[in-house]
Amino acid sequence: MPEDSRTRNVVVLGSTGSIGESSLKVARELPSRMRLVGLAANRSADALAAQIAEFGIKQGCLHDPTGLDRVRRALPGDCTVRSGREGLVELATLPEADLVLVAIVGVAGLEPALAAIEAGKDIAVASKEILVMAGEAVMEAARRKGVKVLPVDSEHNAIFQCLEGQRSEDVSRLILTASGGPFRKLPAAELAEVTVAQALKHPTWEMGRKITIDSATLFNKGLEMIEARWLFDIGMDRVDVVVHPQSIVHSMVEFVDGSVLAQLSTTDMCFPIQYAVTWPDRVPNRLPPLDFAELARLDFEAPRWDDFPALRLAKAAGSAGGTLPAVLNAANEVAVASFLEGGLGFPGIWRTVEETMSRHANQLHPSLEEIVSADLWARETAASLI
Ligand code: NDP
Repeated sequence: MPEDSRTRNVVVLGSTGSIGESSLKVARELPSRMRLVGLAANRSADALAAQIAEFGIKQGCLHDPTGLDRVRRALPGDCTVRSGREGLVELATLPEADLVLVAIVGVAGLEPALAAIEAGKDIAVASKEILVMAGEAVMEAARRKGVKVLPVDSEHNAIFQCLEGQRSEDVSRLILTASGGPFRKLPAAELAEVTVAQALKHPTWEMGRKITIDSATLFNKGLEMIEARWLFDIGMDRVDVVVHPQSIVHSMVEFVDGSVLAQLSTTDMCFPIQYAVTWPDRVPNRLPPLDFAELARLDFEAPRWDDFPALRLAKAAGSAGGTLPAVLNAANEVAVASFLEGGLGFPGIWRTVEETMSRHANQLHPSLEEIVSADLWARETAASLI
């Protein structure tokens, strides 16, 4: 298909992951709207080389240099494949790119995301960590540079869609939906016994391991509350959560007149990724439409705030602001990694986060350096607690 003015030249950071693979699916489906110009991964050398070759891309980055030679050898000589932090930043600021999709797990996406904004590129954000840690700085930089921050997380993409054409003063509440995870109905006393395999069995979404554990603890929803607070510039007291086990309603906006708008679709991340790329246009695709007769029902219930303390901890961190959300995020990453390796029980995840937060001296309106050093401090503190 010929390229037109609505074609987005897209860099995908984290192309070999779950979101990355879905992004490539969207690019295959809509080549006239999404042209890939750069891809980055961490260690998946062969997968990255295969993706770069498939799309005939000339620019790539393998963050960990160990497999760099392998990627270079597998590709034609006119491909440039970089590595390291500088490599990610160079890829995120390629002159030919106009949209950078950030889908790296954890903190590593922050520096390239900020670099992309400074270079005048729109960013599509899947990596919630960057808005949790540095939402204030990221949104301020985007405003200053006049670029868009397009949400890819399905809940935020839903809210973004519901807010279109609305006035911010008319919004009373953002309502994030949560599947409730695999332990939605498990008695509190049994949470201590859950295994890694049970926690990795998400009822509705297929995702990477870290976010799947976060869905089981509800830290994922907590991180999303903080993400929403910054993306939509709204107080934490107006960001709410409701459990919706079918994950069909992706989130809702309540307005001052009591009306609620919701966005619904089948559970496939290609929907929000496509909308972030084609926005403000809606483009036909071959994704499965909703069949309401087959669905038959949509259920909603209050979250178990007392049994899943992640929500309360995230609300506290998001309300306090400063470096505390970065501390929550980093301590959670360390605790989840330890849980996955068998070093920590399931409730140990939120206990580690709570204890790390309680030891932190919060710094308001932090610089990037202060955020990064709070992140490091939290990692060391959480590790020492475990
Ligand atoms: P995965 O673990 O599946 O993939 C992570 C990707 O990031 C991989 O391509 C990995 O490369 C790459 N990566 C990791 N570290 C680096 C680095 N330092 N430099 C370059 N690339 C790196 O994660 P997901 O796709 O599940 O999640 C990505 C982000 O999106 C997370 O922040 C998550 O919270 C968010 N998200 C995910 C959703 C989902 O449905 N999966 C839904 C909403 C948000 P390699 O293969 O080499 O390790």
